[in-house]
Amino acid sequence: MVSDCIFCKIVAGDIPANKVYEDGEILAFLDINPLGRGHTLLIPKVHVAKLRDCPGDILTKLTACISPLAEAILQAVGAEAYNVLCNNGRAAGQLVEHLHFHIIPRLPNDGVLTHRRPLELDKSTMASITEKIQGML
Ligand code: 5GP
Ligand code: ZN
Repeated sequence: MVSDCIFCKIVAGDIPANKVYEDGEILAFLDINPLGRGHTLLIPKVHVAKLRDCPGDILTKLTACISPLAEAILQAVGAEAYNVLCNNGRAAGQLVEHLHFHIIPRLPNDGVLTHRRPLELDKSTMASITEKIQGML
């Protein structure tokens, strides 16, 4: 528990949330500023800021929960698709520094998350990036 963490406070029951699933290690609740009906956040109960900080067994529980949770959300709100999003780090848009996965229900042409500007990278740059990543693993 980190005292100034909003999600730790939700875990502790110190601030209210619309909880949709909970067990000993993980919690899912509706996002207070939803991008669509049923927009849900899935978190570990333990305070970790980023993916790299998350113990493997907890991460396994979180990832195993995503699909059944998302299917339940889709049924509940009548959506037909969803995005799973993990903003990992400030530059990626992570505002709450307690690891969380967004599950965002989608409808055709709903306009959510549609802004994309792909880079144009040449083959040698792509190859160089590939080699560097491989070298880091
Ligand atoms: P991030 O940008 O860090 O990936 O997303 C954090 C999310 O947490 C945002 O979508 C925001 O609406 C949600 N959020 C922030 N504070 C609260 C809160 O007090 N309660 C709930 N349910 N969601 C929150
Ligand atoms: Zn926390």
